[in-house]
Amino acid sequence: MSDLFADAVETLAKAKKTVALTGAGISVESGIPPFRGKGGLWEKLDPMKYAHIDAFLEDPETVWNVLIKEMKMVLDKARPNTAHVGLADLERMGILQTVITQNVDGLHQRAGNSDVIEFHGSFAWQRCQTCDWTIETSRVDLSEIPPRCRCGGILRPDCIFFGEMIPHDALLRSQQISAACDVMLVVGTSATVQPAASMPFIARDNGAVVIEINPEPTSLTRRISNLPLLGAAGTILPRLVKAMRRHQNA
Ligand code: NAD
Ligand code: ZN
Repeated sequence: MSDLFADAVETLAKAKKTVALTGAGISVESGIPPFRGKGGLWEKLDPMKYAHIDAFLEDPETVWNVLIKEMKMVLDKARPNTAHVGLADLERMGILQTVITQNVDGLHQRAGNSDVIEFHGSFAWQRCQTCDWTIETSRVDLSEIPPRCRCGGILRPDCIFFGEMIPHDALLRSQQISAACDVMLVVGTSATVQPAASMPFIARDNGAVVIEINPEPTSLTRRISNLPLLGAAGTILPRLVKAMRRHQNA
């Protein structure tokens, strides 16, 4: 066991309030590509052309055809991986209280975490632009693009596009929880998208220990991560759960 890993186990065992901040990287092993970096969606698509609210309002048919249909196909198939299950195990063991996620895939809830703040909303649901009626994305009929609500309004994902505001309650609660935790587990995020990327800084400023899990160093690694654990989330988190179980039973 590396020193950093052993320190992470000791730190988590002592903590009273632990929160996880997750990003696209935790869902890579569920077959969902991240946006940035190798194999990322933005290698193929220009985000400002297809993922900006103005693009959607101007030409919903193209955004549905190029972006939303593909996301629906990928997300319909995706299942929680061992990293999502690891975070759910940590909650069941009384170690983790809340997950703040930048992801829109709903996999934390499906793995069993009960308190999940979806910072960017949810792709698991589509919402009518006109009357706010919602339907599960997996039930949307794609025979007409863009798909429509019974009222004739166009359906859109219940997550935010570029150019839209972070849901106010999610932002406020994330800031409060980040300020009050004594450990923040940062998993699979490049920590470049604001304001989500500021949560580890809020946590550190208020005395929390930051444990980071990522196969590559990020902008946080040298600046504020106290305990960087280098590796895939699907490998490191189950190992952490096992070590915590041993610790609890010792
Ligand atoms: P990002 O794409 O900027 O960065 C992904 C990070 O994950 C990188 O640092 C990478 O090194 C790391 N990573 C890759 N494989 C990993 C693994 N197996 N285990 C752990 N880490 C791994 O992602 P981001 O910082 O979350 O920002 C992208 C934005 O796009 C988010 O705000 C999110 O809303 C959205 N997004 C969501 C999904 C999803 O819901 N699954 C997918 C793509 C993008
Ligand atoms: Zn409607």
